[in-house]
Amino acid sequence: MSPLNSRLVRVTFAGPELDGLVVREPGASIRLLLPPRDASELVIPIWRGNEFLLPDDVKPTIRTFTPSLMEATSRQLKLDVVLHGNGVASEWAANARVGDSAAVSGPGRGYTITTNASDYLIGGDESAIPAIRQLLVAMPTSIPTRVCIEVTSLDVRVDLVHADHVSVDWLASTPGAPPGTALADAAIAAPIAPDTRVWIAGEAAAVQRVRRHLFAEREFPRTQATIRGYWKHGRAGTAD
Ligand SMILES: Cc1cc2nc3c(=O)[nH]c(=O)nc-3n(C[C@H](O)[C@H](O)[C@H](O)COP(=O)(O)OP(=O)(O)OC[C@H]3O[C@@H](n4cnc5c(N)ncnc54)[C@H](O)[C@@H]3O)c2cc1C
Repeated sequence: MSPLNSRLVRVTFAGPELDGLVVREPGASIRLLLPPRDASELVIPIWRGNEFLLPDDVKPTIRTFTPSLMEATSRQLKLDVVLHGNGVASEWAANARVGDSAAVSGPGRGYTITTNASDYLIGGDESAIPAIRQLLVAMPTSIPTRVCIEVTSLDVRVDLVHADHVSVDWLASTPGAPPGTALADAAIAAPIAPDTRVWIAGEAAAVQRVRRHLFAEREFPRTQATIRGYWKHGRAGTAD
């Protein structure tokens, strides 16, 4: 585990077990099985007819993260995890030591960039920074790309792509407002052309507000937007 700043840590998994894990598309996902909060040992769940459960019938702790892009033989998987202070995965990542184990499954599909888009609007919160970084690396230089990222503090800004076709607005969370308010406000106010493509991920209720605005109020085509709840305020587990 290595800290990237006060809110993000990078956890590196290594070993021959990762042989064959291939992640080709930006913004893909993997599922991470972690030991329960009070245990250090990983227990692999078993199939109980309609769901995987631990031997004591407890649901396993599984969370979703964005894998670094991987070759079939790289045998190293890096995840950037938000230290939000209050979740099993966040606490596990903050305290991870060399030799700790977790199980990984996936990858889940990532995002295909539309090369004939007039421009891109990309938005997210801290949990979407790993995916946004990958999208920006993959974005053709011919496509103007506007990025809005909400962070709990401007100290959490990270280095993204430096390129003329990319402009990045870092937004500090609005004090006292629900998480994602600044991001949703910025996305709703952003200019959107008929051939714009939109990719947004963050807190579920905030991105739902953007969905409603784009699809119901602006009648923006659903096929041109990917909007995902990555977590839900006040609820453990992944939102989608
Ligand atoms: C496709 C996909 C990719 C994702 N990629 C990443 C990634 O690369 N890095 C990453 O950090 N997260 C990522 N997430 C989000 C991550 O899965 C959730 O944040 C998850 O809930 C974290 O688990 P936890 O055990 O730390 O917290 P949980 O036990 O799930 O939640 C405990 C409490 O913390 C709150 N909480 C959860 N996440 C956050 C947060 N980010 N900020 C503030 N409060 C929070 C919850 O509302 C709840 O009240 C991704 C989600 C999806 C669907």
